[in-house]
Amino acid sequence: ELLKPETMIDLIERAKPENVAIEYFGTNVTYSKLWEMARSVSNQLPIEKGDVVMVSTQNVPQFLILELSIWSKGGVVLPVNPSYSETELTFLARDSNAKLAILSCESNSPVGLNVIRTNPQTFGTIEWKVKECEDELDYSGEGGEVSRPSPNDVAVLMYTSGTTGRPKGVPITHANLYSSSLIYNRWFKFTEEDRVLGVSPFFHITGQVFHLTSSIMANSTVVMTYRFDPNSALRSIEESKTTVTMIVATAYRAMLKAYSGQDLSSMRLWSSGGMPVHRSLEEQWRARFGTWIYVAWGLTETTSPATLWPYPYDGKLPGDEIVSSGIPVYNTEIRVEDELLVRGPQVVKGYLNSEPFKDGWLPTGDVGEVRNGWVYVLDRKKDVIVTSGFKVMPREVEEVLLLHPAIEDAAVVGAPDEYRGESVIAYVKLKEGFKTNVEEIIGFCRTKLAPYKVPREIRFVNEIPRTDTGKTLRRALK
Ligand code: ATP
Repeated sequence: ELLKPETMIDLIERAKPENVAIEYFGTNVTYSKLWEMARSVSNQLPIEKGDVVMVSTQNVPQFLILELSIWSKGGVVLPVNPSYSETELTFLARDSNAKLAILSCESNSPVGLNVIRTNPQTFGTIEWKVKECEDELDYSGEGGEVSRPSPNDVAVLMYTSGTTGRPKGVPITHANLYSSSLIYNRWFKFTEEDRVLGVSPFFHITGQVFHLTSSIMANSTVVMTYRFDPNSALRSIEESKTTVTMIVATAYRAMLKAYSGQDLSSMRLWSSGGMPVHRSLEEQWRARFGTWIYVAWGLTETTSPATLWPYPYDGKLPGDEIVSSGIPVYNTEIRVEDELLVRGPQVVKGYLNSEPFKDGWLPTGDVGEVRNGWVYVLDRKKDVIVTSGFKVMPREVEEVLLLHPAIEDAAVVGAPDEYRGESVIAYVKLKEGFKTNVEEIIGFCRTKLAPYKVPREIRFVNEIPRTDTGKTLRRALK
């Protein structure tokens, strides 16, 4: 069923006014209050239709208030990570031709842009120490006029995380946001009773869609906690009785480690995207909490979901060492070539200042295959190692390394090798108190991998470099 896409303004205007939209450290904000505050703020924004506004906050109510106020003036939200440096922010501001920046106290500022500051403590006392500053916005003033965007207008300009190169601007329309939110609503059976554990960064696509716009569409509540921390996430679940979430595998691992008996029985859906979920994590989670982690595959360019595990699912773990990322979501086509291609209503038309994708097919840069209808994302095309003409998927080797009892974390990359073209190198972080050595690890790999896939070298490190969403920064290791 293809519904006519609407804008986020249509959704907020239709939301049940008395339902609680946001819960934030003891403060509840209803949908009517949220919309009132957004219109008050929109009156104070010196922007016109189509203007790009950089917004840099952690997961605080202002993020959503600001988005709605920018959209109500027909503007485009450019969400950025508050931990970015001045240089990173300046690149994004220039590349996107932003007109204004609204920044949380703790955020650096881009050079040459008009800045408004907002304080994360305005709506509740948060438990983290943050830099103080005055909140320069008035949330209780007169509401401005609503300039109605159309579904094909750009709502969010989001940059890819840049694991394979320079971040690219992805113009996401209201229709894309609507389609993705509808996919999540229908697939995961959202209702207004749901309470979303809103701990994925809102400045990334899954935080934006799964946690915010899907929740608005369902008239449900999003519980915000400033930022992810395993202990506070576990506490929030118990205290706020949250029901659904989507977070990266790294966050699941952190929660498994920090778990100390909290009651998590209110959660009906644990899902994870953005990076592979390893078999070992699935098995540990299932053993402890009696449920699988529902895997999602998607990109910024697919406005989050491209494939999802069927829900509910009570079959066996799909896949061998590499766990399946699910089946294509509604109205979404997947083509397997030297990389996976995706087409669907949630897929953007093309990158900022570039040609549209050919016939609507997004080249994802991910290598994968489809078996019995299930999609397996094997690796990033750029990360595939070619050694003596054989192709090695670093993720497959990492999977094997993680099975070793002494290994906590691992990353595999190709290093230039005159003889073989590239050779397989593994970076390994050991578990505390465990001992092993290079020969032993290589011997272990030999029992589970074809000889050409076995790492030629093992390098011990204290930490595997990752992006803020937990993706392995193989580029940094190379
Ligand atoms: P760039 O494209 O600039 O290199 P990026 O790939 O990190 O950055 P994002 O849009 O943030 O850009 O992330 C999308 C990527 O995340 C996918 O292309 C894929 O490589 C990875 N990913 C997402 N979900 C999964 C999954 N279930 N399994 C494996 N990888 C996944």
